Amino acid sequence: MNPDTLFYIIITILIVDFIFDKILDRLNANHFNDPVPDDLKDVYDNEEYEKSQRYKTTNYKFSTLTSTISIVATLAFFFLDGFDFVDRLARNSSNNEIVIALVFFGIIMFASDILSTPFSYYHTFVIEEKFGFNKTTKKTFFIDKIKGWIMTVILGGGILAIIIWFYKVTGANFWLYAWGLIAVFTIFMNMFYTRLIVPLFNKQTPLEDGSLKNKIEAYASKIGFNINKIFVIDGSKRSTKANAYFSGFGSQKQVTLYDTLINDLEEDEILAVLAHEVGHYKHKHIIFNLIASILLTGITLYILSLFINIPEFSMAIGVSQPSFHAGLIAFGILYTPISELTGLIMNFISRKFEYQADHYAKDTYKAEPLITSLKKLSKNNLSNLTPHPTYVFVHYSHPTLLQRMRKLKA
Ligand SMILES: [Zn+2]
Repeated sequence: MNPDTLFYIIITILIVDFIFDKILDRLNANHFNDPVPDDLKDVYDNEEYEKSQRYKTTNYKFSTLTSTISIVATLAFFFLDGFDFVDRLARNSSNNEIVIALVFFGIIMFASDILSTPFSYYHTFVIEEKFGFNKTTKKTFFIDKIKGWIMTVILGGGILAIIIWFYKVTGANFWLYAWGLIAVFTIFMNMFYTRLIVPLFNKQTPLEDGSLKNKIEAYASKIGFNINKIFVIDGSKRSTKANAYFSGFGSQKQVTLYDTLINDLEEDEILAVLAHEVGHYKHKHIIFNLIASILLTGITLYILSLFINIPEFSMAIGVSQPSFHAGLIAFGILYTPISELTGLIMNFISRKFEYQADHYAKDTYKAEPLITSLKKLSKNNLSNLTPHPTYVFVHYSHPTLLQRMRKLKA
């Protein structure tokens, strides 16, 4: 296929993806003012409900603005031969393919991060601040940014360098080696994420002694879960929003509760949330997601290997010389329809898993405190109580509050 045709296919995918996203956002926004279902009438009082309406509208407008700027900038970059310009810069810096690729991605990622930083700054310090969510200091914001860059350079750069090396040494078979590398890395990160990455950004402490710990201890021993695997994280360092999650497997499994969650909820509600998280573990959701992500990576890399050798592929993004890194950009965009589809499937499965975890909490603990905790968390996060079903189908990894409540009461 000729590079010009591929170029226009890439542009079409970018534009169609953008329009589809905007239509969904609009559809969802049209239902912001729907009547609140009877079962959820007690989530907000009038004043808080109006605040949640303003929050949704503000975020909707802000995301429309930023995504429009982003698509315009991306298209301009394509039509003004931006990739060719960056490719030439990278080629001037070295003769080594691996160094060229690292410089190429380094420039593109650094530039796009610099462009998006004012928007994330505005979102944190103007929007989140105005609605009372923000606890991040400017210092933390910028230190987070720098830590993020360092991690991307070391981990992202390291993995990319090794994959290109595989490609140079083994040719079309590189995908098998790359798959092995990414699989090992994914398993390693899954196991040690809470030990190696989380401490770079947050403090984790074991549960404090007291009545909460005693209650958790009683529940944990009933279902056979080790109490020493429950940690509290200082989420309040950045935001008032609360959360909890299960991570790792084998000896590295752990439940993490945000300090904000512990402050916002009653003890039996915290226990219900904890029971839900343990449910994810007991139903082997962590292992399923891990295996699914490794399989998807393998399929993606295999398809990549079929295309990466074709020079027209990399030439499609306007560079004058074919290369692995240019082919990777073209592939990344051409693959969007497939990755959107797998995203839909993974969200669908994730919502099923949430019901299973809720059911586990109901079975081994109680349904009522889980319902009240979900309501409180929705209220504290100013959540949308009336999302559009199509929007939920595409974007939600969790069922809506109403859906979860109805299942829990059934
Ligand atoms: Zn869950």
